[in-house]
Amino acid sequence: MQAWLDALLAVLLAPVCAACGSPLPHPTRGCVCASCWSSLDTLQPPLCDTCGGALAPTAHTTLSVCPDCLRHPPIVDHARAIGVHDGSLRAIIHAFKYGGHRSLARPLAERMREAGTTLVTDSRAAVPVPLHGSRRRSRGFNQATDLARHLGLPVAHALVRLRDTSTQTALPAEERRANVASAFRPTRSAAALRGTTVLLVDDVRTTGATLDACAAALKEAGVRRVVALTAARVETPRG
Ligand SMILES: [Zn+2]
Ligand SMILES: [Zn+2]
Repeated sequence: MQAWLDALLAVLLAPVCAACGSPLPHPTRGCVCASCWSSLDTLQPPLCDTCGGALAPTAHTTLSVCPDCLRHPPIVDHARAIGVHDGSLRAIIHAFKYGGHRSLARPLAERMREAGTTLVTDSRAAVPVPLHGSRRRSRGFNQATDLARHLGLPVAHALVRLRDTSTQTALPAEERRANVASAFRPTRSAAALRGTTVLLVDDVRTTGATLDACAAALKEAGVRRVVALTAARVETPRG
C-alpha cells in the first residue's frame, strides 16, 4: 500500500528532497531523501570531552580537552552535536528552520539523542535556547523547542531572551561573547531545576557563546550542571 502511494505521489506531485532538491522516490517516508540522511558527516571520536569538537589525534598526549577549551573553559560542562554544520546536515537544518519543514524536528532529534545519549540520560529536563519574542513571531516557531520536544525529556522553558542577538553570525568570537552576555534571564520554572543537571538544546552551536550565556543564567538560578546538545556545530578556525 505504501509503495503504491509513494508511486502515485511521486507521479502526481513530483516532490523533491527538501535538502538536496533531487526527486523523492518515497515521499511517505519524509521530506528528506535517504541519501541525504545517510551522507550526514557525523562527529566521530576522539572528541573534546568539553565542547564535543573533533580532537586532532595525537600519539603522544592523552589530552581529552581541545586547546580552545583549555584556554577558555566553557560554562557549559559538556556539549555534543550530530556533526559539523556543513553538507547535508546544514541543508537539512536549513529546510527545518526556514523551509517550513517542522516535521524534520523528530528525525533530527533522534540523531541528536544518539550523539549525546549520556547527556540526555543524565538530565532532569531539556531547556530550549529561547528566541527573542520578535524573532519567534516572525518565524512562527522556535526550532530549539521543536527539537527539545523529541528528546524524551520534560521540556522546561527556564530561560527568556531579553535581547535579539541572533543576527550576530558575522561577529568575531570575543564580540559575540560580549554581545550575548546577560541576554538571557532564568524564568520561574528554573527554580524547579535547582541542584539538577539540565540539557540545553539548540539547532546550531556557533562559537558556544550563546550556550554559555544560557548556562550562566541557569547556574545563577542554582542549576548544578549544564550540558548541551545541538544538531550541528560550526567548526571554529584554530588560531
Ligand atoms: Zn536529499
Ligand atoms: Zn573543546
